[in-house]
Amino acid sequence: MGDIGHSACEQRRIQKKVEELFDIIKFDIISKKYRSYVILDQQSHISFCLHSLESLPKSVSTLNSGEPWLLFWLLHALELLNYQVSDDIKDRTIDFISQCKCKRTGAFCGGPYQIPHLAPTYAAVSALMTLDCDRALEIIDRQGIRNFILSMKRQDVKGAFTMHEHGESDMRSIYCAISVSSILGILDEEIMRDVPEHIAKCQSYEGGIGAEPYGEAHGGYTYCGLASLVLMNRTDVLDLDKLMSWLVNRQMSVEGGFNGRTNKLVDSCYSFWVGACFPLIKEVMNIPTEISLYDPLALQAYVLVACQAVMGLFDKPGSSPDFYHTAYSLGGVSHAENDNGPVQWIFKEGMVALAPNDPLFNVVRDKVTRARRYFEKIPLN
Ligand SMILES: [Zn+2]
Repeated sequence: MGDIGHSACEQRRIQKKVEELFDIIKFDIISKKYRSYVILDQQSHISFCLHSLESLPKSVSTLNSGEPWLLFWLLHALELLNYQVSDDIKDRTIDFISQCKCKRTGAFCGGPYQIPHLAPTYAAVSALMTLDCDRALEIIDRQGIRNFILSMKRQDVKGAFTMHEHGESDMRSIYCAISVSSILGILDEEIMRDVPEHIAKCQSYEGGIGAEPYGEAHGGYTYCGLASLVLMNRTDVLDLDKLMSWLVNRQMSVEGGFNGRTNKLVDSCYSFWVGACFPLIKEVMNIPTEISLYDPLALQAYVLVACQAVMGLFDKPGSSPDFYHTAYSLGGVSHAENDNGPVQWIFKEGMVALAPNDPLFNVVRDKVTRARRYFEKIPLN
């Protein structure tokens, strides 16, 4: 607070930068007429992710508690770019994630010898699903993870989960618990008890969902809350009209990308957090797929024109590329291309479209189908 003038200045600065970039390629957000092609530099982004994955043993030892996340972002970005990783990368990833598995609980930790935690459990399960092979899924201890998730349920706040023992609790921990339970086929009444009601209390007066009750509506928390409710088949607890009105107001009129909160700057990661809410709410409200609730071409233009570095992607002009924004902005572009009726992509004809992403898990769709089938076959012991 207290820096409204500063925020307005920043907003004008970013708008101007994006307008200049659109001007270079003669992109007009209203008419969609552009002379130069917008290009997804697939090969460079693949090299960016592969190079990082191949230096795995060195880089993971310096990133303290987010190692399964790093692996998930890189592998997911490669899958979205339609790149199949080698068996060697698969083996090394499985081996490393096995070292992040807590021997006592079976849940995953942020790195070897750390405490079990819901966020790296989600990231590790998602990375293993992305590897698309039985030997990756085999290392998951479903019963252990179920017990861990139940032990994270708060006694003092009904329907909330802590991230780890004595840890913080917010909408992210709910999503990690519910989405992991769902894909592993362990989502039951005991895990779901009081969760929908708690999420409903976090829907703000604006219509989006906050981290906790009375919190500010936020793109990331809104995704976590909505996806969790869809997985539990309990979206009835939300005011969906209000949620819809908040979501459709996230697309910036000049930049074309989404922001994550009212009066905040555009950021490419919300291309996924907000963008993936649209197929979910369309499904829940029975809105035909071919109807777009935002402008998918303008969203793609923002990511591809304003957020591509020579290698990798970033949040907004002026930033440096990172793995998180590479994965989440590509995820958002995949939804923009694939979830609005016939495939719509803005870049040069003949280029390969991004792989369709699953809006509930943020893993490429056919990997989700494979994992579901795999776990359905195996009884929980
Ligand atoms: Zn971001």
